[in-house]
Amino acid sequence: MARAGHVFEVENPCREAVLAQVTRFDADDVDQAVASARRAFDTGGWPRASATARGRVLLALAAKVREQAGDLARWETRQVGKPIRDAINEVHAAASCFEFYAGAANKVYGHTIPVSAAGLDFTERIPLGVVALIVPWNFPLLIAAWKVAPALAAGNVVLVKPASYTPLTALLLGRLGTEAGLPAGVLTIVPGPGAEVGERLIEDRRVDKVAFTGETTTGTRILQLAAPQIKRVSLELGGKSPTLVFPGVDLDRVAALAVQSAYGNAGQDCCARSRIAVDRDIYDEFVEAFCRHVRALHVGDPEDPATELGPLVSGPHRERVMRHVTRGIADGAELLVGGSTEGLPDRGYYLAPTALGAAEARMDIVREEIFGPVTTIQRFASEQEAIEMANDTVYGLSGSVFSRDGGQALRVARQLRAGVVSVNSIKSVHIEAPFGGFKQSGLGRELGMEAMELYTELRNIFIEVD
Ligand code: NAD
Repeated sequence: MARAGHVFEVENPCREAVLAQVTRFDADDVDQAVASARRAFDTGGWPRASATARGRVLLALAAKVREQAGDLARWETRQVGKPIRDAINEVHAAASCFEFYAGAANKVYGHTIPVSAAGLDFTERIPLGVVALIVPWNFPLLIAAWKVAPALAAGNVVLVKPASYTPLTALLLGRLGTEAGLPAGVLTIVPGPGAEVGERLIEDRRVDKVAFTGETTTGTRILQLAAPQIKRVSLELGGKSPTLVFPGVDLDRVAALAVQSAYGNAGQDCCARSRIAVDRDIYDEFVEAFCRHVRALHVGDPEDPATELGPLVSGPHRERVMRHVTRGIADGAELLVGGSTEGLPDRGYYLAPTALGAAEARMDIVREEIFGPVTTIQRFASEQEAIEMANDTVYGLSGSVFSRDGGQALRVARQLRAGVVSVNSIKSVHIEAPFGGFKQSGLGRELGMEAMELYTELRNIFIEVD
């Protein structure tokens, strides 16, 4: 649809080489994409099809995603730099997401309400219309699926704006959607810069809703742009999530899980537990186990199935992360492990997994989202102090509590100001359960049946009966 000649380059962050050239949408292209999406919603078959029929197409799409899992995972690895074994898991998780919402499509119920007036009162959930889905670069296919699947299941028509670093798997998803039987104009991928393509989508009056995942500062801008039209907005934003470790736990297991959570996807994960707080009596023992597990991580070529940690997504991003580390050390944190590119491949935006101890709440490194393979470790002296440390942030996405005392685990979990809390676990995401943040981590809940509320309007109908 976009005019030829307008392209941007996608880089492989492992090879520091151009991976692909992608058509870059400009204002006119966005205009045409929105016009055809609007037509598809206002006059097309998708919103008018039975929910069961929509579910069938989503199941076919899930099957296509599974069939193409190898290719999708390879492109994901090459554009993000993420380990291939993670990419394969994410592709299958994306397929599972389409399967879940294929089943959810015909289970969106209204209520009958015993009103005082004589008659029948009931509610129904109806599709919103044209929805713009703006996604980030860290889990490009999976986060697109989290939005596309419920939005389509509910009967909307969708436009997906992928991040400019990582448009390739979203484009493949668009093609698979067509092959699976989605009518023309129902799923359109609109690549291009956020400030141009993204903002145009938000400001277009023919777009009924924007669902966004990305940085909190971008989320603020989106809310401002959407405000004049009272446009529906849902936001999944940044995080600075804590892991709390209490005495009595199996420290080796907890350290292994904490490492996995902090350095998975090279720490470029909104749910990464990038702040660890440990009871002071077990601090030294935990730090020793944690650093041992960090040193054992296999850092290398993300296309090698043994690799656990690949490069960061770009050169400028690595520089930003390194500046945080330098600042943290200057502020008085103790470099426990990593902190450099020494011993890593020459080519590729690698950074050794890094941990900073003796961290304090006043330090920027404890307060700001770094979005790289960097963790801070703090000490606490009491349960109350642990809770205060965990909540001392503008974010509130996720958190983990490790304790062998069931009462303590539940007591602490229920005081965390976060949307997703795990006890003796680092799992944050379940397709079947709601996901989202408190405070500046977001607005609304994705996944689970709750996501169907994000993509529908609620209508109340009263029928008078004599
Ligand atoms: P980003 O905010 O820079 O970009 C996200 C998307 O928004 C991209 O597609 C980008 O092109 C677009 N965009 C940028 N500026 C825009 C604008 N002015 N108007 C409209 N669209 C615009 O975020 P990122 O760097 O791609 O992703 C990393 C961030 O995402 C981190 O802060 C991370 O915590 C967050 N994130 C949150 C979740 C969650 O579920 N809460 C999940 C993954 C990532």
